Amino acid sequence: MTHPHPPTTPTTPTAPGPRPAPVRPAPVRPAGIVVLGSLNMDLVAYVAQAPARGETVTGRAFRTLPGGKGANQAVAAARAGAEVAMIGAVGTDGFGTRLRTALDRSGVDTDLVRTAEGPSGTAHIVVDDEGGNAIVVVPGANSAVTSLDHGDEALIATADLLLLQLELPLPAVTAGARTARAHGVRTVLTPAPVPARPLPPALLAATDLLVPNQHEAAALTGRTDPYAAARALLADVPEVVVTLGAAGCLYAARGREPVTVPAPRVTAVDTTAAGDTFVGALAVALAEGRPMPAALAWASAAAALSVQREGASPSMPYRAEIDAVLA
Ligand code: ADP
Repeated sequence: MTHPHPPTTPTTPTAPGPRPAPVRPAPVRPAGIVVLGSLNMDLVAYVAQAPARGETVTGRAFRTLPGGKGANQAVAAARAGAEVAMIGAVGTDGFGTRLRTALDRSGVDTDLVRTAEGPSGTAHIVVDDEGGNAIVVVPGANSAVTSLDHGDEALIATADLLLLQLELPLPAVTAGARTARAHGVRTVLTPAPVPARPLPPALLAATDLLVPNQHEAAALTGRTDPYAAARALLADVPEVVVTLGAAGCLYAARGREPVTVPAPRVTAVDTTAAGDTFVGALAVALAEGRPMPAALAWASAAAALSVQREGASPSMPYRAEIDAVLA
């Protein structure tokens, strides 16, 4: 069979020579995103008023909902149209099976989610009638992810983008970021929960984009003004997006004036996991090569859809819904 487009540069008949450049554009494929992060079962008690120390109150309802910042971002990115694989751990309890199944059903690849002896991670959440909450996170199996193996590293190396948060042991998060950096894979870090100690310099050095909310930005820098906080964070990372709830987000990059991107005006009914939805969608847009302003508008549309619905992962929008907002 003859090639329809013979190479224009002569090749020697004995050596195979360089392959001709492809004449068709690369096939469109979904962005490949790897999430290195937590899986927690959210144990939610709904009460009129949260109990004070030493007090017992009777709750109205109780629900168990799959969550964890890592798993939430994975589901958000999968719904936004990426091929997503998760690295993390669940326990040997019944929650572990449910957490894994929930991700599988969302289309997230869980082959590299380990099962660690003992309980799964849990988040004990008390939600009061005013929508306020108090949360205790018990890491459980998440604590078992202290390092990465060859399989994890090989998966990260093939990704378009790596999503990280701080609900896994810091050595593993740092190892993930460094592996990504070594292979030219873009890294996006949600610095939550903010640890008591400064973030490891090796982690920041391998972070391309940091996405704190305004409370996390303040906790990291000691500056409550998000502009001042973003500028301070640029000393450590080249790009920062500070999310500002209903006020949208602030984007700052080295050598440029920070810009705010407004959020669509909507009536919020439940802002749980708004940040994770935002980051998941932002990751997909960036992994697809969209420029930052377009990616931020798309992520803002996704998060605005999620706050209009109840729940964490059930509220996360699908790609067509996000596109429809901006059409
Ligand atoms: P987190 O959920 O991590 O606390 P934010 O509250 O800053 O983070 O929300 C993340 C993003 O979700 C915001 O940047 C914004 O795009 C969107 N968002 C949050 N609350 C609202 C709201 N009431 N209306 C529209 N968008 C919202």
